[in-house]
Amino acid sequence: RPLVVAIDGPSGSGKSSVSKEVARRLRLAYLDTGAMYRALTWYCVTHGIELNDAAAVEQAARDLVLELSTSPQEDYVRVDGVDVTDAIREPAISSAVSAVATTLGARTELIRRQRELIEKHHRRMVVEGRDITTVVAPGAEVRMLLTASEEARLRRRGIQLGGTQDAEQLAAQVTHRDAKDSTVVNFTKAASGVVTLDSSDLDFDQTVNAALVIVTK
Ligand code: C5P
Repeated sequence: RPLVVAIDGPSGSGKSSVSKEVARRLRLAYLDTGAMYRALTWYCVTHGIELNDAAAVEQAARDLVLELSTSPQEDYVRVDGVDVTDAIREPAISSAVSAVATTLGARTELIRRQRELIEKHHRRMVVEGRDITTVVAPGAEVRMLLTASEEARLRRRGIQLGGTQDAEQLAAQVTHRDAKDSTVVNFTKAASGVVTLDSSDLDFDQTVNAALVIVTK
């Protein structure tokens, strides 16, 4: 029977690692939608596509030849057959991704692909992102918002406020990305019917267990 577990949340909430582990434990497929936006950004940057040219970014989303792992045991992302698994996590992509993700036409295309992937896995999948509970799969069997205080999110990224200038800069980047992202998708507040899981004071295992409790309730 279908079991779509939709998990939204800001960057640094521990969303990816928690979602992946939940998928493993429940033997479900796993989809990291952020990786899709990152792959599209990599494609745009590599092809010299102007990120504020909405029509060009939208066309790029349609042209994108993307293969990504839908297994929690494996991690790969390929664009045009090129392995970009690590490249899409580079700071240059992280700082450019919001410009791509706020292009509505590009979102429409990626959302279409995300829904297709969910169907392909017979609706047995953990799907994580920013708009999964609200837009991509509002009919998901389980919908949760994984949050954490700003302090906890920065701590997990190894950023110490009041530390070096580099740390301050990194912190500003993370905050800046969340602020830009939330102009198109609201992942800061749980929509009606969405369960909030605040992981600020939980370690990884405790967060996974709490998420599993929500799923099996
Ligand atoms: O989750 P991650 O930090 O890898 O996501 C990268 C970026 O992709 C986000 O900052 C956001 O701009 C975009 N994104 C989105 N909608 C999603 C998932 C990610 O706009 N469902």
